[in-house]
Amino acid sequence: MTSIINHWINGERQPSTSERYGDVFNPATGEVSASVSMGNSDDLSKAVESASEAFKTWSQTSVTKRAQIFFKYKELLETNREELVDLITREHGKVASDAAGSLQRGIEVVDFVCGIPHLLKGEFSEQVGTGIDCYSTRQPIGVCSGVTPFNFPAMVPMWMFPIAIACGNTFILKPSEKDPSCAMKLAELLHEAGLPKGVLNVVNGDKEVVDAILEHPAIKTFSFVGSTPVAQYVHEKASANGKRVQSLGGAKNHAIVLEDASLEQTANAIIGAAYGSAGERCMAISVVVAVEGVADDLCKLLAEKAGVLKIGPGNQAENEMGPLITNEHKNKVMDYIQQGIDAGATAVLDGREHGMTNEPGFFLGPTLFDDVSPEMSIYKEEIFGPVLVVLRVKDFNAAIQLANEHQFGNGVAIFTNQGSKAREFVHSVEVGMVGINVAIPVPLSFYTFGGWKDSIFGSSNIYGMDGIRFFTRTKTITARWVEDDGSINLSMPTIK
Ligand code: NAD
Repeated sequence: MTSIINHWINGERQPSTSERYGDVFNPATGEVSASVSMGNSDDLSKAVESASEAFKTWSQTSVTKRAQIFFKYKELLETNREELVDLITREHGKVASDAAGSLQRGIEVVDFVCGIPHLLKGEFSEQVGTGIDCYSTRQPIGVCSGVTPFNFPAMVPMWMFPIAIACGNTFILKPSEKDPSCAMKLAELLHEAGLPKGVLNVVNGDKEVVDAILEHPAIKTFSFVGSTPVAQYVHEKASANGKRVQSLGGAKNHAIVLEDASLEQTANAIIGAAYGSAGERCMAISVVVAVEGVADDLCKLLAEKAGVLKIGPGNQAENEMGPLITNEHKNKVMDYIQQGIDAGATAVLDGREHGMTNEPGFFLGPTLFDDVSPEMSIYKEEIFGPVLVVLRVKDFNAAIQLANEHQFGNGVAIFTNQGSKAREFVHSVEVGMVGINVAIPVPLSFYTFGGWKDSIFGSSNIYGMDGIRFFTRTKTITARWVEDDGSINLSMPTIK
């Protein structure tokens, strides 16, 4: 009998009132490893009730006490690293070293919020008028919520709840129904670190819970990371319902390679960024734009390197690339490969022909397409699998134009040794996160993460100072401590 994953509400695991369940797979074997409750609006209401009650005391808890809990949490995450990595690998499929890296990027957000007393400091101006001081404070908002994708079961939830909670809010997380165990463990550990019950709740499920969150009037903020159509939908819905929204969507990240780039190094970086996590990363490189003069050599190198990648279960240390998340997703990616061939692209490597593709589990070998053109679906659309497409262009300007005209603008990288070209690129490219000889330019937790164009909806990035601003309200105070002179003045106050 498979185990059942329920909800984490009011500081403990709680059964669902819903009778709907979803299968959680081990993508490396193709077997069902657990059943997850598909929560409903009653489950959500229970979580909201608990979070609203907890907000009354948590928002009044001193900021230093809140920081201490996160220090303890960091320690617990580190001592439980192995179990968390195992959960990620077991339900997502990515290889253990990659799972450990993604967990580390989540822990870095916890590092960031350990400094919450400093991050929440307001401003103070003395004597803005005679005897008048002006200052601002940042206060929590209330019950916040987050909905996360399958591809980073630890890191993406940790882009949200540590910041919201450290700011004095309470939080309801709806993780991906495809790999929910990690979120449950993250919640359990935060309570072990001393978080009072009700401050963090996890309600599992699918669209039904998401829609209930969007409609619930007591939930004040909505954070979303996932595919673009859903990001756009939830942004519209949550905004219309008066919530603050941060909503991050899909991507198609370009790597632009100029003639002078160090080819071996560039090819290694691109292979890691294209096929790591089987291409299921929003910052994966899925497009190479090679300028004339470099394309032949680069394609040859990419094919050689992709052809020898070791593919297999993520819990075996020798493997470099694991399976895709579900069989359904594998079929979708294989369909894109066929679309590429039908459209006339050259399949230098066809992942469908890889030996592992016919093994149990949702494995698919690496695919490399050359001679791709901008109107092909394999260029225009996010595939989210181990498929890399190469476009050949005349020069640097044509390369920038491609990146700028693409629907998505999450990440981009340029490979060159010319400082002036790199600088011009940074200035002109219409993409939110830019790498110079860095293939996956995911900002550290003390910067902020977010793309441009259809990779984000609304005005807030996630984590870093944008996160602190998103999860707090500013209050600005103008104070005068002088004796009243007894006069009344009806005109607009101005500084004297
Ligand atoms: P998804 O959009 O299918 O699901 C994301 C979340 O939304 C899940 O929790 C899911 O249950 C929920 N959901 C799905 N359909 C819904 C609907 N119709 N209404 C309401 N909620 C719905 O995304 P995914 O397949 O889990 O993740 C992959 C996608 O996430 C890719 O497009 C990837 O680029 C994107 N992503 C973006 C970033 C980023 O920072 N921009 C980071 C990671 C992943």
